[in-house]
This record gives sequence, C-alpha cells and structure tokens, in this order.
Amino acid sequence: MANLISVTDRGLYCEQGDFFIDPWQPVVRAVITHAHGDHARPGSERYLTTSQGRQVLQTRMQPGAPIDTLAYGEELSVNGVKLSLHPAGHILGSAQVRLEFQGQVWVVSGDYKVAPDSTCEPFTPLRCHTFITECTFGLPIYRWRADSVVTDELNQWWRTNRDEGRASMIFAYSLGKAQRVVSCVDPAIGPLFCHGAVQRVNRDYIASGIPLPPTTYAGAAYGRKDWKGALILAPPSANGTPWMRRFGEISTAFASGWMQVRGARRRRAVDRGFVISDHADWPGLLGAIQATGAERVLATHGRTGPMVQWLREAGYDALSLHTEFVGERDDVDIDAVDIDSAGDEETQT
Ligand SMILES: [Zn+2]
Repeated sequence: MANLISVTDRGLYCEQGDFFIDPWQPVVRAVITHAHGDHARPGSERYLTTSQGRQVLQTRMQPGAPIDTLAYGEELSVNGVKLSLHPAGHILGSAQVRLEFQGQVWVVSGDYKVAPDSTCEPFTPLRCHTFITECTFGLPIYRWRADSVVTDELNQWWRTNRDEGRASMIFAYSLGKAQRVVSCVDPAIGPLFCHGAVQRVNRDYIASGIPLPPTTYAGAAYGRKDWKGALILAPPSANGTPWMRRFGEISTAFASGWMQVRGARRRRAVDRGFVISDHADWPGLLGAIQATGAERVLATHGRTGPMVQWLREAGYDALSLHTEFVGERDDVDIDAVDIDSAGDEETQT
C-alpha cells in the first residue's frame, strides 16, 4: 500500500491528492492544521483550513491570501482523496487532517492537546491506519497537573501581588496561550491589560465567537499612573525590554509547558513559572496514539527518539519523521540553541 503522505523539500505532501499539509515552502495547495508560524507560512496560492480557524489564519497570512474553509468533520474529495478536518484541541480552529484513499486512512495531527480548554474545540480521537503525531513533550517527565490547580495558583499569585502593591506581568505566546490564560484568570482580582500582539489576537478570537473577559490594550493606557493590581499579558519577547518599565513595580511570570524543566524559569529570568501548555503531555500523547488504533506511528517535532523507542517496544511500527515544525517557537526557544526565534508580531509594542 502506497504512502499517503511523504516528506518533500516543501513539506508534507499527499501525491494522490496533489496537496501539501503545513508546507514550509510556498505551494499551490496548502492544507493548514493551525495558524502558528511553523505550520502556517505565507506565499502559497490557496489555503484550506477550518471555518473556526479562518480569522486567525487570515491575520497571519499576506493580505488577501485566498483561504478556503471546511467545517469540522465536513468531507471534501481532492483528486479522489477524501479529506476532512477534526478538532486538535490545540488553539482556536486547530485541526487534525484525516485522509482516506483506497481504504487506507492516515491522520496528520498537527499540534494537539487533550486537556480541556474553553477557547477551542476539544481534541477528537480518530481511528486510522497511520498516525503522524507531534512529539513536543515526548518524554515521560512531562506530566501536566489539572488546569484548575494551576489556575488557582496563578490567581493566587496575582492576588498576592495586588495586595502587596505590585502589578503582575505574565508572558505567554500571543496566539493561543495568552487567550487561554485570559480565559482562566479571575477578572474580579483586577484590570486586565494586553500587549498589542496579544490584544490583536484577542480580537480575532472574539470575532470567531470565543468569549473572553474584557481586556484593555496596554498602549491605550500608558498615561495611567497606577498599575498596582493590574495583570498584563505580553509575548515572551517583551521580557527584559524597556517596554516593561512603564508599569512600575511588577512581578513577572511565564506560562509554558517548559516551566516544568528545572532551570527554565531561571533562564527566562522571571519570578514565577506556571506549567500551562497547549500540547499534550507524555500520557496525553500515548493515550491519543492508542485511541487511533493505528498500526504505524510517525513521530515528528520534539524529541522523537524516546517516543519511537517506547512505541516499538509496545509493538507499533514507529518511525521518526523529519519536518521543520518546532512546536511553539516561544516555548521551544527556551530549550533550543537558537534563542532569537520570536515571531514577527512579538516585537510590536
Ligand atoms: Zn502550534
């Protein structure tokens, strides 16, 4: 049975359907799992994504980029390949791509998360013969605690800062992570302000039907004398910049799955780290893989070696698949040699 997906120099390619999934070079037809920069790159002639993900993808693409959409679960025949998009639980509009051709089913997961998140559709397990899984947190040390526990800690940190006369600043990736943080903090504690990069994506979320508590663009409030008790959300690239000085005395925190790694908080030079990820942890990855019933698993982006070894010992036909996906750039750069990997919009103030 022929492969339905192969890796080419332009990205993941379905020859039977003549389209690419999350290509890293411009192509004629690009199917996009979600709008993070390593999966959604400008320059292609046509894009296909979910209806829910359209707004955030449009913001990320070149102006006027032609974007077609499919509702979750809707089927499209592309040169005889049955293609559909299903919730990946990662960020707004994120999708797993299901391909069916001559009785073979492949699923490309993109990035995914199995924990609940009020800002996106929950991950849907799909049955398939071959599953291409992400592997950002593909080591047994990565095990997330319940969201409610982390949320309580985050709110307590903010409340304590307020009571002690400081502002709180939390760094979170501007697409997806920041909106998740906004959705789970308690707005009764104090006012919520956002860096421009975050506020712009908040608007896209609200325009896409995701309710978020009211936030104020920090740039519209620079004349404010007293920031005590405020919570300010900013992209990680704002950390250590002069932009931070205008808020007076602040306590800083970073929201990332990498905060579980010893030393990550210190390297980020923040006061607190909250382990909040929009990727599956080790048990989440294994559970998702098992639920597919797949015989073959191709592991990509992250530390695929231990995952592939574990899967082989469990009886799977497993391989590493080399791609140019990196998980989340703001997360990965903590752990990578190349520190200068912030997205283009993160430099705006
Ligand atoms: Zn992503």
